[in-house]
Amino acid sequence: MLVDTHAHLETVDDLEGVLENAKDAGVSKIITIGTSIKASKKCVQIAEQRRTGTQIYATVGIHPKDGKGEVEKLGLARCIDTLKQIVRSSKKVVGIGECGLDYRVTNDNLQLTTDKEKDFQRELFKEQIKLAAQLKLPLVIHCRNAWNEIFSLLTTNYRLRTKIGGVFHSWTGDWQTAKRVLDLGFYISFSGIVTFKNAKEIQEVAKKMPVEKMLVETDSPYLSPEPWRGKINEPKNVKIVAEFITILRSLSLDQIAQVTSENAERLFGFENL
Ligand SMILES: [Zn+2]
Repeated sequence: MLVDTHAHLETVDDLEGVLENAKDAGVSKIITIGTSIKASKKCVQIAEQRRTGTQIYATVGIHPKDGKGEVEKLGLARCIDTLKQIVRSSKKVVGIGECGLDYRVTNDNLQLTTDKEKDFQRELFKEQIKLAAQLKLPLVIHCRNAWNEIFSLLTTNYRLRTKIGGVFHSWTGDWQTAKRVLDLGFYISFSGIVTFKNAKEIQEVAKKMPVEKMLVETDSPYLSPEPWRGKINEPKNVKIVAEFITILRSLSLDQIAQVTSENAERLFGFENL
C-alpha cells in the first residue's frame, strides 16, 4: 500500500473517479495539501467527508505565491490565527504547509524576485515555522532557488529548531543539499520529477539517501511522471514514482511501498478516524 504524501485534491473535478483509480493502484492514503486559507478549508472538508476506501488527510498552510492576496487583505497575524483555527477544527489535519520560499531566477541565475517580495515570503514562512512548532505538527516545505535562506530560517533559533520536523516536498536539489536536509532530521519526498530524463542529480539523491527518510508523492494535478509528462496528474501515479525508485534502489515495489508508508506514518502520525 502506498501513501501519496502530497496532492491537491481540491482542484479535482471528478474526485470519486480519481479516488477509485488511486485505490485500484494500491494507494491507501492521500494527503491533500493546503496552499491558501481558502484551499486549506476545502482540503479539510474533503478529508472530513471521506470515510471509506482510500483515507484522506489534510495540511493547512499558505504557499509563498498562492496566498499573497489573502495575506494582503487580512494581514499576516489574522491569517496565521485563521490557520490555527482550521487546524483545531479537525483531527484530519496532519501538517502545516505547503510553505517556504519560491524565488524566480533566469537561466543565467539572475534574480527576478524583488527584495520586497522576498521579505514578504520570508515573514510568511517564519510565521508558519512558529505555528508548526507551537502545534507540534510537521512542516511541508516548498523550496525553489532558495536553499540557503530556507536552511537559515529553519536553524536560526535553537529553541525552535529542536521542535520542528517535516518534509521537503517534490525534491529538486542535489546530493550536497540533501545531506543538509538529512542533517536537520527532515524527510525528502520525490514526485514525478525524479522520473524525468534530465533529473540525474535528483535520481542520485534517491539512490544514495537513507530509505528511512524517503517519501513519495504526486503533487497532482501537476508534475506527471514519465511517460505522462505534461498530462494531468493523479494520486494513482504515485505508483509510477515508487516503481521508478525500485530500479534505483534494487528494492521491490512492496519494499518501497512499505518503508515509505511507515515513514509517512511516523512523520504525520495519521489517526484512524
Ligand atoms: Zn504542491
